[in-house]
Amino acid sequence: MVFDLDLTLWDCEDISSTVPPYLRISKDIIADSNGRLIMLREGVRELLTWLKGLGATLAVVSWNVKWKALEALKGLGVKDYFDYIIVEPHPRKDIMFMKLLSAVGKVDRAYFIDDNRTMVELVKRAYPWVRTLTYLNEVRTMREIKEVLRRELKVKEGL
Ligand SMILES: [Mg+2]
Repeated sequence: MVFDLDLTLWDCEDISSTVPPYLRISKDIIADSNGRLIMLREGVRELLTWLKGLGATLAVVSWNVKWKALEALKGLGVKDYFDYIIVEPHPRKDIMFMKLLSAVGKVDRAYFIDDNRTMVELVKRAYPWVRTLTYLNEVRTMREIKEVLRRELKVKEGL
């Protein structure tokens, strides 16, 4: 399960333009050194916990400055959910995906969630077998992502 960061996992549209260090304001909110707030999307923690419980491999693929993205993930307390974190300062997510897949090895299936349609198409073109979901379009909340996954992966009731 592969997640984008900006406008997908959190409400910030460009974490690279924020200025660490980040200060934890509440469970799901951090502030950068200029007081700019970055909020984790509602339900992210629950979704990641649920996916971990199902045994899913979790990854980040993001076009950003890596150390800032890592600091923000750490600041929000979600970094350790991810088995792979690929953050590079260019928009070629198909290349980042290639790196991710070669690091993970053989996978039966993969999901990719990103708010940017261009990124979704780039990955889809390179890897047509990857199931893509455009955030804020096909799915609008973490709960909706969970419902899609539950349906498609045939997850039993109660899980
Ligand atoms: Mg994004």
